[in-house]
Amino acid sequence: MTVRDTQAPELPRQPNLGLPILEDLPPVAGRRVLVRADLNAPLRPGKDGGLEVADDFRLRASLPTLAWLGANGAEVVVCSHLGRPKGKIEPRYDMAPIREAMAELAPGVSVADNLRFDPGEEANDPAFVRRLVDGFDYFVNDAFGACHRSHASIVGPPALMPSAAGRLLMGEVEALTRILIDPEYPFVAIVGGAKVADKLGVLRSIAERSDRVLLGGAMCFTFLRALGHDVGASHVESELIEDARSLLDRFPGIGTPRDIVALAPGGDFGIGRPATGEVELFTDDLPVGWQGLDIGPETRADFAEVIAGAATVLWNGPMGVFEDPRFAEGTRAIAEAVAACPGFTVVGGGETAASLRQFGLEGRIDHISSGGGATLEFLEKGDLPGLAALRLSNAVRQS
Ligand code: ADP
Ligand code: MG
Repeated sequence: MTVRDTQAPELPRQPNLGLPILEDLPPVAGRRVLVRADLNAPLRPGKDGGLEVADDFRLRASLPTLAWLGANGAEVVVCSHLGRPKGKIEPRYDMAPIREAMAELAPGVSVADNLRFDPGEEANDPAFVRRLVDGFDYFVNDAFGACHRSHASIVGPPALMPSAAGRLLMGEVEALTRILIDPEYPFVAIVGGAKVADKLGVLRSIAERSDRVLLGGAMCFTFLRALGHDVGASHVESELIEDARSLLDRFPGIGTPRDIVALAPGGDFGIGRPATGEVELFTDDLPVGWQGLDIGPETRADFAEVIAGAATVLWNGPMGVFEDPRFAEGTRAIAEAVAACPGFTVVGGGETAASLRQFGLEGRIDHISSGGGATLEFLEKGDLPGLAALRLSNAVRQS
């Protein structure tokens, strides 16, 4: 196998955090290796009425592991889920477009069928695990973005055969562990995005470890309400106002916006919808019916100054509805501040990473996490089911 445009970077042998790495496998030459990757790329209509890969970011992320295995003479089959077919064969989630793109990127690597076409994948059915690994000698997990799920292809194979963590997975674990265990201070976290409910656990965990937590996005309005502000028609999760209040009491390092860009009542915003309505900047409180959709210029300047002085930065969640240019400036300012920060910078979250790509800044971040839910769960709990399974495989072999 040859893999174009890719080098297999050598990882330092330690610390590998108890996870078996590719070098820990028995010699792979002439052996059949099953790789669980995350090839769940966005698709779009292509030629001849079919679908094609719209963004091959995830496919390219899988290449270092495939290159290492190929260079060492393994016969490689890569498996992944695609979309949510819920245990049934659905033509729109067929792997054909992924297979076509991978044939270009990693010639010689076979791509197996969509794991989620079989109900055994999500149910973690032992019979499905056995079918999956049938005929393979070794297993490699490189699907960091799926490691928070106890699905068959994630937790099953390491119990049955020598297994290792791939390069992408190790890179994720190393960067996120550095943030969790041994961050340099000042450690500044920026948390925004859609919902407090999704991020309360990670907020608690990060607030304990960091000096400052800067809040933006839809989630800041629950905190602004907890502080007694009027937030108009902004997104508030009423059942979480008490949790927000207790976090603010416990952690004086949590910072909220002091000016907000808002949309007038009746206006419209978002993706693929016409942008309508008056937009205004408010300080402190919003009038009735106005919806806060971005952080204002004073907040941007405050946050950027804090970020500039950080030795460690973790950013998850856009500061506003950056998909609408009228509400993109807050996210852009934070993206630029994080890119310019000389400290160690880590960015996680699907939309946050997409915003960096939109602004052309992704090359200036130390680590962009490929996981969404997996990244948040790892930052909250310090471990994931898929990692625990790999560690167990290592322990079994050493005993
Ligand atoms: P990530 O995928 O990076 O973890 P989330 O999924 O939590 O981020 O949230 C991203 C979404 O949050 C974006 O699509 C953005 O439009 C939306 N968003 C940001 N700020 C607001 C806001 N003030 N009101 C409503 N939606 C917002
Ligand atoms: Mg998201």
